[in-house]
Amino acid sequence: MAWGSRALAVAVWLLAAVGARAVMAMAPDGWPAEVPGWDSRDKAGGIALLPLLCWWVWIAFWAATSDWVFRDSTRHKVRPEFWTMCTVFPFVFASLLAWWIPWSAAGQAAMAIAWVLPLLLYSRERNPKVPAAESILTAGHMQRLFAALLKKMGVQVKTAAVVGNGLPWVTMAATSAETPEENQKWQEEAAAMPGFAAATKLLQEAAAARASMLVIEATADGVRVGHDVDGISGPARGVAEPPKGRGKSKQPEVWVDVPPLDAATGGSAVAVLRTIAGADAAKLSGEPDAGFMIEVDGKKRRCRLATRSTKTTKQVSITLDLPPFAPKKLEDLGMSATLAGRVRELISLEKGLFVVSSPAEAGCSTTFDAVLVSADRLLRDFVSIEESATVCHEVQNVKPVRYSAAAGEKPVSALKQAMLEYPRAVVTRDLTDKELALELLQLADDQQLVIVSVRATDALDAIQKLLQMDIPADLLARCFLGSLSQRLIRKLCPQCGEPLPTPPEILQKLKVTAEELPEIKRASSHGGCRACAGRQFVGRTAIYELAAGPTVRQAIAKQVDAKVLRQAAVKDGMRTLTDEGLAIVANGLSSLEEMQRVFAVKKEAGASIPISAKPISAKPGGAKPPTRPGLPPSAKPGSSPGPPPGLRPGPPPGSPPGPPPGAKR
Ligand SMILES: [Zn+2]
Repeated sequence: MAWGSRALAVAVWLLAAVGARAVMAMAPDGWPAEVPGWDSRDKAGGIALLPLLCWWVWIAFWAATSDWVFRDSTRHKVRPEFWTMCTVFPFVFASLLAWWIPWSAAGQAAMAIAWVLPLLLYSRERNPKVPAAESILTAGHMQRLFAALLKKMGVQVKTAAVVGNGLPWVTMAATSAETPEENQKWQEEAAAMPGFAAATKLLQEAAAARASMLVIEATADGVRVGHDVDGISGPARGVAEPPKGRGKSKQPEVWVDVPPLDAATGGSAVAVLRTIAGADAAKLSGEPDAGFMIEVDGKKRRCRLATRSTKTTKQVSITLDLPPFAPKKLEDLGMSATLAGRVRELISLEKGLFVVSSPAEAGCSTTFDAVLVSADRLLRDFVSIEESATVCHEVQNVKPVRYSAAAGEKPVSALKQAMLEYPRAVVTRDLTDKELALELLQLADDQQLVIVSVRATDALDAIQKLLQMDIPADLLARCFLGSLSQRLIRKLCPQCGEPLPTPPEILQKLKVTAEELPEIKRASSHGGCRACAGRQFVGRTAIYELAAGPTVRQAIAKQVDAKVLRQAAVKDGMRTLTDEGLAIVANGLSSLEEMQRVFAVKKEAGASIPISAKPISAKPGGAKPPTRPGLPPSAKPGSSPGPPPGLRPGPPPGSPPGPPPGAKR
């Protein structure tokens, strides 16, 4: 291929040279007589108006592409000097020729050929070295260009979803070493290892699946690969081998859990990942800093690697940082304008307590940030009491005051310090400290706005959690403004979700007839499609409930049980999480099974663990899945910092949340 291109390039040069000699040998008097006009050249030389315009158009085209060829050939290491020469010299020659010869059509043709031919030849040498989705001057490329053009004009065209193997282009770069030279060394070492291609493919598949974590686990029956996607851990998914023989092209692809890799392939891929992360380097024996950078289709993402060994398994997990998500307003999280307005109204009050809650890892931190962003931080001084070890997303105009639990400091001391500045509002996340809770409630009762987040299954459970912190019910009732709770629900893949006749019990619950709501949607029966990488769901949205009003306050003061408290909240106009969830199912955004999964969390435990639908290590025998290595909180940008140790029931939930609600991919 390379030789062919080179030979052709030489031929172009020769042709250009021979042509030039022939033209120059012609005496100017042998040329045809001038025909004065706007399209022919003047006696003095040069070009007339129309050819001149064309001349500049060619120059513009060429300038754009020759610069691109230089950058692209350098990036892909495809003989940059040679191809730059090939794109520059013939064209410069042709453009001069076009000024000199009296036949403008011939001049223009020469320029066109000198522009297109080197590009064509370059594409022949380059295309095999780049992912199929980046190939140029091919049918697929033309299709992409055409689709992009139509899209600009407002026409959506469905281009072929399958380009090559359908995986994004991923490159790895070492970043953990102290010096650039050492990084370079690790990178070269990794590239020379036999598992390099396998490791790259693992990362490509993780990126295609939108995984926030890639887990590679060596077990007795091979190396299992798992992905955490949208807060769910599960085996990596792939297209099943189509049944041999009849009409296989017409049948939709079937997506299944990928079978384990053989030990040799998996082991060599892990070795590459560990090398590039510097996990084996002596100074990184602690490993929390082991990491590297990947570039996915031109976008950089940081990866962190952690290794964990037990008696039976060895597990390597790679967290793939997601772009941070900073909502500008509550509506960005999928909250209805009415509810968002109500929340804003409550937190604009001068004093009182506002509670934000969700089960662990259910996006509470993002909602808390959004609530803070919606508060009038510019009009009054906000302080935030924070544990110094937890990494939070800082909100503008909210001054953090930190305490270190590790150093034996109490949160109340941070509050005392914060009060020296006479703030008008105090906020804190993951409130568990009884002493702090009482102090905050007294402030809320007195003159401050207090916003806290707690881990709770719903808005009323959050109230119970506060009462369990030994807060007097009458105090809470006096200063209670509202309790906002949320759940994250995965959205059905719009490409492969299937219609399902609405079950009678749903019609009953929604109080509609089968004519009004003939069908809802369910997950694909083929296990997914390329759009969702076999996950059946893409992204998440949030549902909310807000308990606020005089009836709730009275109920709190009377210390009623959970059921009566709920009735009171509904009387005050609360639309419950279940109602909101049903509404989402009714409009086809999610499935009934997903709702059941989300609400099953509540039944599972008083405090909440995100349940893994399919633990990747679950064996048919029902072996207990091993826990994931705990990750430093900093590994989860923009996500919830995880429950404090006191609230953490059992093993740490290894899965950081997927993209936040409403985040579009
Ligand atoms: Zn799908």
